[in-house]
Amino acid sequence: MKQEKILILGACGQIGVELTLALRARFGDSNVVASDLRPEVHPLLAGTGPYYTVDATDIKAVADIVNKEKITQIYLLAALLSATGEKMPLKAWDINMNSLLQVLELGVEQKLTKIYWPSSIAVFGTTTPKQDTPQKTVVEPTTVYGISKYAGELWCQYYNRRYGLDVRSLRYPGLISWKSAPGGGTTDYAVEIYHEALKHKAYTSFLSENTYLPMMYMDDAIRGTIELMEAPEEQIKSRMAYNLSAMSFSPAEIAASIQKHIPDFSISYAPDFRQAIADSWPSSIDDAAARADWHWKHEFDLEKMTAEMLQHLSA
Ligand code: NAD
Repeated sequence: MKQEKILILGACGQIGVELTLALRARFGDSNVVASDLRPEVHPLLAGTGPYYTVDATDIKAVADIVNKEKITQIYLLAALLSATGEKMPLKAWDINMNSLLQVLELGVEQKLTKIYWPSSIAVFGTTTPKQDTPQKTVVEPTTVYGISKYAGELWCQYYNRRYGLDVRSLRYPGLISWKSAPGGGTTDYAVEIYHEALKHKAYTSFLSENTYLPMMYMDDAIRGTIELMEAPEEQIKSRMAYNLSAMSFSPAEIAASIQKHIPDFSISYAPDFRQAIADSWPSSIDDAAARADWHWKHEFDLEKMTAEMLQHLSA
């Protein structure tokens, strides 16, 4: 069998760092080429394998790396996230859409074996059923980020149907991790709260007390991504992104789970512009299709995640 060689675009972000490390452990350091707009590699990736500074929208530069490194698969993680996107909508559209369209074109031209591109629960909007949001439902995103993700899903499906490109995608919920910092999303509070609990025993949440959002611990997200990418092609029945779910909680509930470890931790609430984004998203997700098609199963609930986060961050 031909040795697959992976290029990760946006490798220095919250997901990229951990996915790069996981893929390197699985396929060998030199078979996973990391890249990002950032001139310096993320400290956790330093010395672990090849790194390029490249703009994911500069397709000529990306194509040069694909040719030079004999890349067979691309993971496109470069994006502007929901909160940052609302501050610069046209820039978010440009980066999120142009990088995807060009990578899809490159995938056809270079006969890449697989492409991974993440979508988000941000594809859903205020008209979507909020509880147990199904895989197929009303989809009217209200943020530029959500619009770019939904349009992107349709383009992935188009390239699969039209050209047979094997492009796979997941609608991640909010992701919680201790290794790398989040990059400007609406669910970032659920990472910040652990850092502040350990440092100051207090946190002011930018979302209100009872805002429930779908969330997932990074270990589950990384495992799910690799399992999706390794599933036999016939199991991938949706070429739109799969709903993916693990848990749903509010700021009050995550605070209560932290108080079991740090009894004098206190939380206060000062909702900002991100509250409106959160209010437009589902509070929980039905991922029955992922569980049935390629046997997705989460491992972390809120209590298990809190124990791990506090243990790793205080080590
Ligand atoms: P992040 O912001 O932490 O990382 C994105 C990385 O992309 C950064 O290192 C940034 O420097 C890089 N980047 C930005 N523009 C670039 C460009 N033009 N060229 C090359 N690199 C560029 O984001 P993340 O949380 O790691 O998200 C990765 C992907 O997962 C994105 O598509 C995001 O929409 C999706 N996603 C993330 C979450 C989450 O909770 N983190 C949830 C749903 C979907």
